[in-house]
Amino acid sequence: MSDLRELYQEVILDHNKHPRHFGMLEDATHHAQGKNPLCGDEVTIYLHVKDGKIEEITFEGHGCAISTASASLMTEALQGKSLAEAQALFDTFHALVAGQQPPEKVPGKLAVFAGVRDYPTRVKCAILAWHTLQAALEGKEQPVSTEE
Ligand code: ZN
Repeated sequence: MSDLRELYQEVILDHNKHPRHFGMLEDATHHAQGKNPLCGDEVTIYLHVKDGKIEEITFEGHGCAISTASASLMTEALQGKSLAEAQALFDTFHALVAGQQPPEKVPGKLAVFAGVRDYPTRVKCAILAWHTLQAALEGKEQPVSTEE
């Protein structure tokens, strides 16, 4: 398992250092802010949704390596996906970090977050971007928090 852990670490560090899809989206149709007060992570997710498809997704914010890498990997995974696919991925990711889904069943690099399941405070860092995504799609005006 240690090789796998090292690989997980590498992907997370890489996405923290070089976040993908980082920045504000000018013509966003949806956006929301999320916070994880326990760690100090803050993220804003921007989406451009057309005909039920995520044409563009970006994020801004700051926080720990796990929260930044999670937002980066999420935007990478959701670019071009339908809203139904996004919801399915949310459920898969949620089950993964809760330890209810084996990493082999998780598509692409999102599996790297299997490592956080043993650390409940880290689970909040990893899930923050996904909760913020949901808030954006639901059109929530108030920032969402992992502590509510
Ligand atoms: Zn964090």
